[in-house]
Amino acid sequence: MDRSDVEAVKARINISDIVRRYVDLKPVSGRWMGACPFHQETKPSMSVNDDEGFFYCFGCQASGDVIDFYGRINGVDFRESLEQLAAEAGIELGNVPHDPHAAERKARKQMLMDMHDEANQWFQRNLALASGDHCRKYLADRGMTPEMIARFGLGYSPEDWHGLDNYLRTRGRDPESGVDAGLLSKNEKGNIYDRFRGRLIFPIQNLSGRVIAFGGRIITDGEPKYLNSSDTPIYKKGDHLYGLNLARSTMTRSKRAILTEGYMDVISLHQFGYTDSCGVLGTALTSDQVKRLAGFCSRVDLVFDGDGAGRKAAMKSSRMILLQGVACKVVLMPDGEDVDSLLQTKGAEGFEACMKEAPDGLTFCMNTLRAEYAPRDIMAWAKSFLSELSDGSLRAYYLPRLASGLGLSEADFRRDAGGTPPTRNPQHQPRQAQRAPQQQKPQPAMGVGKDYADDRYFLRFTIQYPDYCPELVGRGLGQVLRTDWARALWEKLATTQHGQITSLLNEHEKGFYFQCREELRDNGLSGRELQDEWNHICSKITFEQDKLDKRQLNEAIRQAYQNGDTERAMQLLALKKSPQEG
Ligand SMILES: [Zn+2]
Repeated sequence: MDRSDVEAVKARINISDIVRRYVDLKPVSGRWMGACPFHQETKPSMSVNDDEGFFYCFGCQASGDVIDFYGRINGVDFRESLEQLAAEAGIELGNVPHDPHAAERKARKQMLMDMHDEANQWFQRNLALASGDHCRKYLADRGMTPEMIARFGLGYSPEDWHGLDNYLRTRGRDPESGVDAGLLSKNEKGNIYDRFRGRLIFPIQNLSGRVIAFGGRIITDGEPKYLNSSDTPIYKKGDHLYGLNLARSTMTRSKRAILTEGYMDVISLHQFGYTDSCGVLGTALTSDQVKRLAGFCSRVDLVFDGDGAGRKAAMKSSRMILLQGVACKVVLMPDGEDVDSLLQTKGAEGFEACMKEAPDGLTFCMNTLRAEYAPRDIMAWAKSFLSELSDGSLRAYYLPRLASGLGLSEADFRRDAGGTPPTRNPQHQPRQAQRAPQQQKPQPAMGVGKDYADDRYFLRFTIQYPDYCPELVGRGLGQVLRTDWARALWEKLATTQHGQITSLLNEHEKGFYFQCREELRDNGLSGRELQDEWNHICSKITFEQDKLDKRQLNEAIRQAYQNGDTERAMQLLALKKSPQEG
């Protein structure tokens, strides 16, 4: 992606214009303030800065530029968000011909979506025809109302090897494109035929409401019971959630998502008023799906079958959700029931009763672990959970809760589970060894402690007063930073123009960056005060450098002794004793 595209979109669009579509913004002492849509709150704590083009929430620290905001609230990734905003602003992306196939690919995707629209209309028409009688009867028997059938756009694919194939041909479509779209199949002999036959059809829509795939349930006997579209250029398994486009507006209001497994379960939940429900699409829940949901709500309630398979799925899914720092509850259906059957027989009251009993995700995991796993498996689970947390600060949150859930003291657990991130001790390690290459490692997490606080202090100043950056480079600030996190951020600050930096920052860095910029508005220094602060920064860098030099000297002396080079060691020792001023 071209950074100039990002800058062009940000320059053309006022962030407050976009935010205002979702949030009521009011001017408060020179800035826009509104209720944050990313966490539950009543008093407005989200600030929107048009001058610098970012938003920052004082409550949950959500932050970013206009592309981040749009992506997060609409549950689309950065690229998609950039494209949609660029289209609105009338900016042609990447007019530099760095990707000669982009236009071609876009046209192809458009064509695939158009074919899905055509197929969708054909499926829906078939449900209304006489050939769809038994499918309509099936839906009626399962208590599905006409309103729901229309809302979810259900259709029917007749028992015909060439029904859709022929229809698409009449629309001038090439059968090979039908195969690429995942609507038709091709056997070894090269014969092309309908992928969905004799099935109730559930269209799968993206967030803009375009149909991008289908799910099909067999109506009579046959295998497999459920069949989904295969991956195509417009649909990737594990990226989408069934019904999310219909559920998202309720989710942003209720701050909750109900997540279940089957198509019919989702529709039944909507029918009974739970319009914040959506479904995983025939795969295990992925972190991408959780991130999508987290853009709309702060809690995900899992609704799964109460049998062994359902419990296992609930365990995996709640772990995935907790890892992303999202709250969750686990609602298991009584024996032999699924959500659909429970709602149809016992109504919303029956479902509410299950909801009331439901434990939160972490408690569910702990209970299941204690009941079904050996102690060593439990510890392995806890260790891997801590190591996979998406955000270092979540570790501090989960550690005591996991410890008490496992009946361990926090200190013991911290030691056994490797709860403390490995700390570097600058006293005992030569500088080179501390600065191991970072490219292969996951993003360094922000941390706690004095080193971390010092680093933040330096970087906050750099971010708030970027004019001083070149001089900070000259004074060697990079050498005195101690944490990986700070060094990675400094690298970017030192090598990028102030106005262009934000498109290079990762999520944590952005949070910190925008927080610093936001603080500047109320507590900015100038004149004498700024000069004093600058002097303090300079003397602190000098002080840290002296410490660093001494450490390096000590290390060199130690090395010389170790190598038996006494003469060199004595020389170095003399250097150490000579007064600094001399
Ligand atoms: Zn917030």
